[in-house]
Amino acid sequence: MPDNHPSLALYGGPPIRTSSFPSAGDASGRSFGAEEKAALNRVIDSGVLWRVGGTEVSTLESEFAEYLGVPQAVASTSGTSALHLAVAAIDPEPGDEIIVPPITDFGTIIGVLAQNAVPVFADVDPLTGCMTADTVAAAISERTRAVIVVHLFGGPAPVEDIISVCRPRGIPVIEDCAQAYLTVPSSGDGFAGTRGDIGCFSLQQFKHISAGDGGLTVTSDAALAERMRHFADKGWPRDGGVRTHHFLGLNYRMTELQAAVARVQLTRLGGIVDSRRELAHRLVKGIDGLSGITGPSDVDSHALWLFPLVLDPGLVGATNNEFAAALVAEGIPASGGYLDRPVHLVPALTERRTYGRSGFPLTSPLARKEWTYEPGLCPVGERMVDETLIVLSWNEKFTESDVDDIAAAIVKVHRYFTNQLEE
Ligand SMILES: *Cc1c(COP(=O)(O)O)cnc(C)c1O
Repeated sequence: MPDNHPSLALYGGPPIRTSSFPSAGDASGRSFGAEEKAALNRVIDSGVLWRVGGTEVSTLESEFAEYLGVPQAVASTSGTSALHLAVAAIDPEPGDEIIVPPITDFGTIIGVLAQNAVPVFADVDPLTGCMTADTVAAAISERTRAVIVVHLFGGPAPVEDIISVCRPRGIPVIEDCAQAYLTVPSSGDGFAGTRGDIGCFSLQQFKHISAGDGGLTVTSDAALAERMRHFADKGWPRDGGVRTHHFLGLNYRMTELQAAVARVQLTRLGGIVDSRRELAHRLVKGIDGLSGITGPSDVDSHALWLFPLVLDPGLVGATNNEFAAALVAEGIPASGGYLDRPVHLVPALTERRTYGRSGFPLTSPLARKEWTYEPGLCPVGERMVDETLIVLSWNEKFTESDVDDIAAAIVKVHRYFTNQLEE
């Protein structure tokens, strides 16, 4: 190893950073305070812990709808259930197809399979990891029943362009905003989640705001909202006073305890996103000009759930996993690829582990064809996960000096690998 540059911690040199960073996994990177405790006490004292006789869940729904400027919000138990509500409201026939991206949480896909629809993967933009109007258009068939657009890491997907492709064909667009609170898509008005037919959010531990778990789905369509409400409560329209079930639903009811915490968290959301953006500007400056490394193109429209970097391995002299391992050794929370593998290559899909050994609905005679999932289906997404994408943990409680350590580590690791290239 040449000694004209600092030796990497990966190879035994001194790390840039030895103390831990604030993490959304515990109190260090979360804001749960006196207000959340008071809210929980209020619910406990009321004796009503479920939504049916309570006020917290219904109030959260109206507060969240108002926050986003949409008429309707429906609470549920998780981001996964929020997405399941959306798919169930659209009510696909078995074997109908729903277009999804290869880089996302598996929760994006679960509701599709649970409603016996087929996930059809559309490839992504090599810098944002989001689907584009072109990749979606290429995946549309006469069986396409919906598209689920994921605003990955909080970066805006081109949802308006995708809507322009889908609306003339009568295909509804669902936005998965689990990572994208207050994301601003590039044209049109309003936050992500309010552009498509339905927007889905998560309150899981690691999301911008949390109630431990929880989900929220928004829409401007009163009929979709009603169907989602009933789907989350056993298909039972309680307001009719009759104990009956209009269609097959589940119990996805959020509790009053979750909603009480979520209502307080919602008051913190603007500050959380602002702080993440401000810190992101600092990192963008700190790593400006490094060859072969691309960060988010517009921090102010991004929610910075994570801070993504895309490497050009030819210019940097390292793949994402090599670079991320060097960052981790420097004490920086980072990971190569975000996922172990793209979603279309997880065993649940490649081995069609769905319902017993049936492979349903991927093998169903009701589907357009027999569906298989293998490498090569989404070459751009696969290359991002395998070679180019790095995600850095990001948190509103980082200090400026935390960000400076992250920048210093990226500069150090970049210098090491690019020097290796020259030698
Ligand atoms: C977290 C997440 C989900 C699922 O949310 P849960 O609350 O964990 O069920 C779905 N989609 C994306 C993009 C996510 O990040």
